[in-house]
Amino acid sequence: MLPGVTTLREPLTRTLGPKTGKALESALGVRTVGDLLRHYPRRYYTRGELTDLSSLREGDHVTVLARVDHVSVHPMPNRNFRARGEVIVTDDRAKLMLTFFFRTTRAEHGFKQQLVPGMVGMFAGTVSSFRHRLQLVHPEYEMLPGAPPNADLTPELAAEFATELTPVYPASAKVSSWTISRSVKTVLNTLDAGPDPLPPAVVERYRLYGRAEAIRAIHRPLDWADRDRARLRLKWDEAFMLQAALAQRRLAAAALPAMPRPRADGGIADEFDARLPFTLTAGQVAVGQTIATDLACAYPMHRLLQGEVGSGKTVIAIRAMLQVVDAGGQAALLAPTEVLAQQHYRSVTDMLGPLARRGQLDAAEHATGVALLTGSTGAAARRAALSDTFTGDAGIVIGTHALLEEQVQFADLGLVVIDEQHRFGVEQRDALRAKAADKRPHVLVMTATPIPRTVAMTVYGDLETSTLTELPAGRSVIATHVVPAADKPHFLERAWARVREEVTRGQQAYVVCPRIGDGPDTDSPDDYPDEDDFTGPDVAGPFMDGTDMTGGIPRSVVKGRRQPLSVLDVAATLDAGQLAGLRLGILHGRLHPEEKDRVMREFSAGRIDVLVATTVIEVGVDVPNATVMVIMDAERFGVSQLHQLRGRVGRGAVPGLCLLVTEAPPDGPSRQRLDAVAATLDGFELSRLDLEQRREGDVLGAAQAGRQSSLKLLQLLADEDLIGRARQEAGAVVEADPDLARHPALRAAIEDLLGVQAEYLDKT
Ligand code: ADP
Ligand code: MG
Repeated sequence: MLPGVTTLREPLTRTLGPKTGKALESALGVRTVGDLLRHYPRRYYTRGELTDLSSLREGDHVTVLARVDHVSVHPMPNRNFRARGEVIVTDDRAKLMLTFFFRTTRAEHGFKQQLVPGMVGMFAGTVSSFRHRLQLVHPEYEMLPGAPPNADLTPELAAEFATELTPVYPASAKVSSWTISRSVKTVLNTLDAGPDPLPPAVVERYRLYGRAEAIRAIHRPLDWADRDRARLRLKWDEAFMLQAALAQRRLAAAALPAMPRPRADGGIADEFDARLPFTLTAGQVAVGQTIATDLACAYPMHRLLQGEVGSGKTVIAIRAMLQVVDAGGQAALLAPTEVLAQQHYRSVTDMLGPLARRGQLDAAEHATGVALLTGSTGAAARRAALSDTFTGDAGIVIGTHALLEEQVQFADLGLVVIDEQHRFGVEQRDALRAKAADKRPHVLVMTATPIPRTVAMTVYGDLETSTLTELPAGRSVIATHVVPAADKPHFLERAWARVREEVTRGQQAYVVCPRIGDGPDTDSPDDYPDEDDFTGPDVAGPFMDGTDMTGGIPRSVVKGRRQPLSVLDVAATLDAGQLAGLRLGILHGRLHPEEKDRVMREFSAGRIDVLVATTVIEVGVDVPNATVMVIMDAERFGVSQLHQLRGRVGRGAVPGLCLLVTEAPPDGPSRQRLDAVAATLDGFELSRLDLEQRREGDVLGAAQAGRQSSLKLLQLLADEDLIGRARQEAGAVVEADPDLARHPALRAAIEDLLGVQAEYLDKT
């Protein structure tokens, strides 16, 4: 390596010295020069533009650009400090107080010299409040060259602020934005970015900046246009590397052997079809054929089956499983919850009848066994299930996470079906897949949360997709209404009256609450708190301090507002009041599994009128006689989650009704979200909405737990076109050169950008 040249893979401790290097690593998780350079500015200040100080909130780590308005020094006799300095800064509308404490005359003197009224500076610190006024205590600061001359300003610093745009980095309490800024600058001075990983043809075709140019321009843009071109190029990097890695994985997967399990005539699958109480929809037939063909191939199927709630995915899965059983293999069905696993077990055994009673007297001729394995399966039943799974007597094994345990061994696992996939991470998929003997099992993933095309291409880039677009005939519509409980309490009374009416007519109802109540909650929705809770002011988004954005909502922010409604409280209140006399049941994650099963059976059998539950009923629960759902504190749930939930009603001949009860203010964002859910039954549209409101990191969350997202600039929805093009270009490159032997720079860049993620890509 040439002396004085910095490469992307060089550790920061070497380039910047151990102290700064370590500080950056512990604060931001950046280790190499490349990591630091991918820590992109979070925004840029245009010269002369001040931060909106009225947007600050207590607890934020902020970097603000403001003008010094007033400076005063107050002696502090009898204290550890000799004096306190008070600076009022302003954005010309609001004011913010800065407080400093001085031990020495020198410190006090330096302060007076630098903080001169009229000057503009950047101030960083954690916002606190003092006597109801927001302040920064001992902020770090840097004055910008300006009106009154600043004695301490170095020429470098002056140059730094001389450009039009000043980058502001996602910072933390420990490392300020300009420590990052200076480090970036140091690194850029000697950087050799190496050969460009994007093929020259691509750079040319889309008129992209070269890599070195883009890295420079994202950190030190000359103007907005320069910055935009840098972003475009860097987005291309992200999209291209990811798509190239996925293309490699697709090729590798296609090369792996799987046992072909072609459909056999006259087996259980045929008998099952003959016994079906309904006619398959055209969509079910078509997808069924696709899957039957996939299963007959000598390489593993990786298929994602999307279909609206109630579109009849389960029957497709069962038919696929039976095809594999007919071909001599076993199939595993992995469900996200105990309730759902039990329901699947019941419906599979019911639908198969004597076909599922292998070993019993009334078994049909080619009968197979169906085993159920969940966390709560009793010891004896568990032993039997394990044994049947091991010997192959159980052709179909249904279960929850318990299926992933090591003791669970299959005789010949040919197909893995994962229901309602969004609850499972890649690791779990892998764990189950690893249970197949020497060849890979086929994999079918089913989801009712429609996945936008780009997400399917990116996050699930390895899966082929099939979609069920129509609902089985005779399905009723679901009407959804928002019930504003705070401004129109009589609407809520009316809602309970509706529940009563339905029950009187012989129907059943769900009441869904965000919490269980009484103790720690395990199945409350934590991925979608009020937006108020996580939308910080622009200068300091929640990720400045490294808190994760999915669920790490500081509870203190929630303090002061009432707790979300709980199943236990709501059930008690309804039982004593509006729904007195009806048969109420309770279902939530903390119940004993046997109790859960009992409650579900009672509800299915119509012996419970109203089921008060948490989101345990969100996925898959199928009780066609239930026609009303009342969702309490509905703003606490995500858009897709609400859509899933309401899919529990309207499964029969009677139209469904879903009432979203909320106290959210009428024009707030929460209310808009609920209105959107009420306005459409199009799950695809809603999942887009959901995605828009999440950040990309969340979408990739499961795949990259504990790691910063490798997609920093790319937005899965907004950049749909770009991703599509990158997929094509990257696909072509990989097809021509699968190992990228002729594209070493590209190979290295994929490794750098995707890191851990690439490992997981390899695994799958
Ligand atoms: P989901 O796609 O939400 O998992 P399910 O597979 O649970 O949907 O199907 C919902 C209900 O529709 C079940 O009761 C199922 O038996 C029924 N069903 C499935 N396919 C058909 C069909 N072609 N005609 C009528 N009913 C159907
Ligand atoms: Mg289902």
